[in-house]
Amino acid sequence: MSDTAPLAPRASTAETPEADAAVLVRGVTKRFGDTEVLAGIDLKVPTGATTCLIGPSGSGKSTLLRCIAFLEEATTGTIEIHGDPLGFAEAPDGGRTRLSPQSIRAVRSRIGMVFQQFNLWPHMTALGNVCEALVTVRRMRRSEAEEHGMAQLSRVGLANRAKHYPSELSGGQQQRVAIARALALDPEVMLFDEPTASLDPELTGEVLNVMRDLAGSGMTLLVVTHEIGFAATVGQRIAFLDHGRLLLDGTPREVFGEPRHPRLAQFLETYL
Ligand code: ADP
Ligand code: MG
Repeated sequence: MSDTAPLAPRASTAETPEADAAVLVRGVTKRFGDTEVLAGIDLKVPTGATTCLIGPSGSGKSTLLRCIAFLEEATTGTIEIHGDPLGFAEAPDGGRTRLSPQSIRAVRSRIGMVFQQFNLWPHMTALGNVCEALVTVRRMRRSEAEEHGMAQLSRVGLANRAKHYPSELSGGQQQRVAIARALALDPEVMLFDEPTASLDPELTGEVLNVMRDLAGSGMTLLVVTHEIGFAATVGQRIAFLDHGRLLLDGTPREVFGEPRHPRLAQFLETYL
């Protein structure tokens, strides 16, 4: 990794139950003013597996993802990426201390995120979009960045669209470019926040297929989605968030099987 800022010491997790956690969320709350949006979340995202986060609109899914990407700061609680604290570390008195900006940058750079809106630069080609951060943030030579960028576009099936501008691509293709852009930075964990929600139904399949391939390649994915079919077949873990609380967290069989939690049953009736 070319971001060489010193990392916080890696916790020795080899013998602990957290050993295989890519992301470990402990006691996270989030308030906006008087509104408590996350009410104490404990979540383990296992390494090399796909975890799908489902739940009604307004339940706090995006906020939780944004806290994990450190786009929002949790009000209380801690988050670790492979044992390294993100943003805050537990203090001896049980509170938290803020980590150095270098440590925060280094740990958050290990997380990739894909949003509902693709947010591509309109004046750059697909390849330009994928390479931009490699050159400006990771300080790669342009030629090296382009080689790496082409490999990422191939991964999402768009090598033949490298020279196209976003306006010349379909929504599904634009979202695949956004995925390639996140992959280019070599993240340890990929977060997806409703990546198909703004696509026409006929374009969701190509994006879900790319995500299914990534899941099959052993990447760690945390996916917020209303595509329950995708969650049930690709997700190895399902987390169900309701009113800022994690009501359920288990395998698809445990979560979707009978007897169903009444809140989940109600949610599924709305979205299926
Ligand atoms: P979801 O992604 O599950 O639909 P969100 O995490 O977007 O839910 O939002 C959860 C709640 O937090 C909602 O009630 C929303 O209005 C509120 N919220 C989210 N972001 C902010 C913010 N920046 N300021 C105030 N309230 C917010
Ligand atoms: Mg959301």
